[in-house]
Amino acid sequence: MSQRSFILSLEGVHKEFDGFKAINNLTFYLDDGELRVIIGPNGAGKSTMLDIITGRTRPDRGIVEFGQNTDLTQLNEYQINRLGIGRKFQTPSVYVEHSVFENIWLSLEGNRGVWSTLFARIKPSQRDRIHEVLKTVGLATQADRKAGTLSHGQKQWLEIGMLLAQNPRVLLVDEPAAGMTDEETARTGELLLSLAGQHSVVVIEHDMVFVRRLARKVTVLHQGSVLCEGSVDEVQNNERVIEVYLGRRKKGEH
Ligand code: ADP
Ligand code: MG
Repeated sequence: MSQRSFILSLEGVHKEFDGFKAINNLTFYLDDGELRVIIGPNGAGKSTMLDIITGRTRPDRGIVEFGQNTDLTQLNEYQINRLGIGRKFQTPSVYVEHSVFENIWLSLEGNRGVWSTLFARIKPSQRDRIHEVLKTVGLATQADRKAGTLSHGQKQWLEIGMLLAQNPRVLLVDEPAAGMTDEETARTGELLLSLAGQHSVVVIEHDMVFVRRLARKVTVLHQGSVLCEGSVDEVQNNERVIEVYLGRRKKGEH
């Protein structure tokens, strides 16, 4: 139904919670290989949008499609994840008692859980893949460290690595820079930029310095629908955006 090159299409999506319109006639398209940033005030529906894409929440109506004709509203969370849509929540959830290496190993495509994985013999191809992922997320030198001892930022990267280990087509990342140092934030920006192209990436963020660093197409969500879409400059200069969102934040910045 939707145009051919989109990896994700949402059209006329609605979701109410007890009469409150959390998502209200939302239409959103993501190009294959694109990195898109979604911003919007608290309660705008950003996380609910990801819940709908990943099958955690069912929309009341509307179209949610993966690729050309896979209707995501008919699938459960597990099936959607298996299609290649990976999500990273705000708080990192890593296996704190296991090493960084093992965390990636446990997340590799086709692995079936902690025990069967860690008692199986690792294949050379798996080892190579794990090192490749660790290199991508900047944790190559931390492979043997217990995940629980990593810094907050490193845990976030490890979790992004755990997603990458599943080789997803689409990565959905909710506020990755929250709680990070400036340096960690900068490295996270570089990491996400490096993933675009090979993967399609949706990043929810409200730190405008970080958004500017990513400098890609931005979608502004407000009251469950798209208020405006465009470059960082376009959305920052949009009157309606300034009114509902940036205007309030601008005072606190710089
Ligand atoms: P954002 O991520 O943009 O801050 P959310 O998507 O988390 O916003 O929430 C949008 C609105 O929907 C909020 O008012 C929130 O309280 C409400 N909401 C989200 N999920 C649920 C739920 N499962 N039950 C009831 N209300 C919800
Ligand atoms: Mg949220």
